[in-house]
Amino acid sequence: MIPTSCATVPPSSTNDWRELWRRAITDPVELLHWLGLGHLSGQLPERNAGFPLRVPRGFASRMRQADRHDPLLLQVLPQLAELDETAGFVADAVGDLDARKARGVLHKYQGRALLIASGSCAIHCRYCFRRHFPYAEEISAVGQWREALAYVRQDTSINELILSGGDPLALSTTKLVELGRGLKELPHITRLRIHSRLPIVLPERIDDALSDWLVALPLQKIFVLHTNHANEFDATVDDACDRLRQAGTTLLNQSVLLRGINDDSRTLAALSERLFAAGVLPYYLHQLDRVRGSAHFSVSDERALDLVAQLRRCLPGYLVPRLVREVAGKPAKQPL
Ligand SMILES: *Cc1c(COP(=O)(O)O)cnc(C)c1O
Ligand code: SF4
Repeated sequence: MIPTSCATVPPSSTNDWRELWRRAITDPVELLHWLGLGHLSGQLPERNAGFPLRVPRGFASRMRQADRHDPLLLQVLPQLAELDETAGFVADAVGDLDARKARGVLHKYQGRALLIASGSCAIHCRYCFRRHFPYAEEISAVGQWREALAYVRQDTSINELILSGGDPLALSTTKLVELGRGLKELPHITRLRIHSRLPIVLPERIDDALSDWLVALPLQKIFVLHTNHANEFDATVDDACDRLRQAGTTLLNQSVLLRGINDDSRTLAALSERLFAAGVLPYYLHQLDRVRGSAHFSVSDERALDLVAQLRRCLPGYLVPRLVREVAGKPAKQPL
């Protein structure tokens, strides 16, 4: 049976992002029915393989009906393959626990410190390297900014603050305004970078209040979006990208190379072209972090290098993302 909530609550009935966040699909059976794939319900792993499904309805509406291989669906649907144990695929794949310098601060690289600004995401991506990280204890929200900002204040070699998570735009704009005030006491910070998937998966988040906050921030602002496939774009996403650019931000994108989703040169080229059409430049193409439960998404380095070589032949250089891997303990993302 199709649950009544998706029949009675179309995604377009409100523009309030918090309400849309709450109405996200969290039941894989509901998602499958919605897509005309109810017959696959028996193939879901028990208890979502330990990482709950979450997908905003607007993002789900960009999935193709009745296609079990849809590249957006595959990013969010729990799979039995996640239960396979694969040697080398572990819980803390990128050394985050070692890089923690204060509550909610990761400082691995020269000049840049990363604030875990929120523990939640509007969408749950099955390949995510954060799926096993104890973020609930790390959130540097209200009251806890102080410890994180105190760390940044005493290290004047840091000139760029990165808000990541989780998704930092999960925070209310009121909390972001509070953070903005705290940044005024850190004169060595000249750039604020925000890593967020929300402009893509819940573009309504880029509302007037957020734009006003960005415009008023006396810093250089960079947004690093996270998109893996051109189908993730629609008019609402274009609109969110426009608003961000009008608010004075530079827009970049990072993708993860994912088997069965974007491990094909035509798909990657289409993504770069679509990004540029929305005013976004490709930044990184990440080799998958070796996180437990994600081995079925992995692409060999040989194949990854071959794909990027093909991209170089068919795209202008500025549309070819840098193929990198994060290696615990290294001073930068590692080019392949
Ligand atoms: C990835 C990452 C950054 C950003 O690295 P860039 O190469 O500047 O994009 C910064 N800090 C941490 C902890 C990171 O994991
Ligand atoms: S941190 Fe990013 S990749 Fe991971 S689940 Fe959240 S939105 Fe997805």
